Amino acid sequence: MRVLIVGAGVSGLFIAYELAMKGVREVVVVDKSYPGSGASLRNVACFRSSFTSPEHVLLMKESIKKWLELKDRLNLDIEQSGYLWVARKPETLDTFRKLVSFYHSYEIPAKILNVDEVKGLVPKINSKIISGAMFDPTAGKMGILKNFVKIYLETKKAGVKIIPYTEVKKLITSNDRVVSVETSRGVLEADVYVVAAAGDSKRLLEPLGVHLPIKDVPRHPMITEPYAADYRLGLLIDWDTPGSPHITQTVHGGFILARDLEDIPEASLYSPRSDAFKNIVKPLAELLPFLKHLKIVRYWMGYYDMTPDHHPIYGPVDQYMNLFIAAGFSGHGMMLAPVTGEVISSWIIEGKPSIPVAQNLTLERFKTGKLVRELAVIG
Ligand SMILES: Cc1cc2nc3c(=O)[nH]c(=O)nc-3n(C[C@H](O)[C@H](O)[C@H](O)COP(=O)(O)OP(=O)(O)OC[C@H]3O[C@@H](n4cnc5c(N)ncnc54)[C@H](O)[C@@H]3O)c2cc1C
Repeated sequence: MRVLIVGAGVSGLFIAYELAMKGVREVVVVDKSYPGSGASLRNVACFRSSFTSPEHVLLMKESIKKWLELKDRLNLDIEQSGYLWVARKPETLDTFRKLVSFYHSYEIPAKILNVDEVKGLVPKINSKIISGAMFDPTAGKMGILKNFVKIYLETKKAGVKIIPYTEVKKLITSNDRVVSVETSRGVLEADVYVVAAAGDSKRLLEPLGVHLPIKDVPRHPMITEPYAADYRLGLLIDWDTPGSPHITQTVHGGFILARDLEDIPEASLYSPRSDAFKNIVKPLAELLPFLKHLKIVRYWMGYYDMTPDHHPIYGPVDQYMNLFIAAGFSGHGMMLAPVTGEVISSWIIEGKPSIPVAQNLTLERFKTGKLVRELAVIG
């Protein structure tokens, strides 16, 4: 079987890797730019299974397991140092209690922390303005560049051909099949086609009459100079401030800060916003006053490829029997990537996903109205 994958982001690479590991001999991945040039090398690289939909919880739990297996095998940079959801208001703790009981039903050992316990975990937090927190110790963070490069090299080692700087312009169809793709460097043919091109998947598939409800929503993260704070968390989230400002520290010591700012979907990645600095730094510096002394050394933009229910679109497309989609990760595609590879490769080889709950995430759900709700979109 020959499989052609459009997009060499973390999703495309993991799909290719899993296909090759399962014995598919001809797997080709094409990218219009360099591998990782989409959201995959622009993200905050945190992970958790503490979501609010059973679909996300089950898939993320499996994905974390797979990341940890890969960590041991490939010496990846992954730390299960936890997510801390900080409550400023006392009543928020009631919401956290409900969430904790939901997580416990999926064996996620999340817990409520009182102010002293939060202070024990984050000694530099301004405890005067908080009421407590929810902590998920199974969540964490990873080193984005090192891990991406290792996955890239491992995928090539497995026999996958990765072709950069080759844009797929058009998918050519005949009846109910895709027969080839026209690229900027000629025509490529395969037996099965996978579109894993994030928001661009929508633009590629629209001419085929396949409408993907994905919007590219700009994000505005920034990173400080390195600072040796006594800080070991995966991610800290300011739950009670709109847009959930959040912060993580990279292995190099810089703190990445981000917040959901209202923005125009599809706005150019070359339209930086000067208000991002104040809006993102201020609430986080209230919680972690040492941030006031740090300088921002870099600010960048990247897209969340958002779907209406904040879950990815997985699997086959009704109209074309050899066409598959893996896009619309809504800010969670890095953590989900090993499972994306598992789900799509099993769908291609065995005709159904090896993780059954993935079947709830096909494009079909937007026609039938069976949307899957996710309330905690953060990272
Ligand atoms: C600021 C920010 C923070 C984030 N934080 C997190 C986080 O903490 N945890 C997490 O799990 N996720 C996070 N994400 C989301 C995560 O980065 C994405 O969900 C993930 O990278 C999606 O990977 P992908 O391979 O599907 O898409 P991409 O990495 O965007 O890859 C798609 C690829 O397709 C290529 N392409 C597009 N069109 C074509 C074409 N016509 N022909 C050929 N190639 C094409 C592009 O060049 C690109 O390389 C964050 C995202 C951003 C922007």
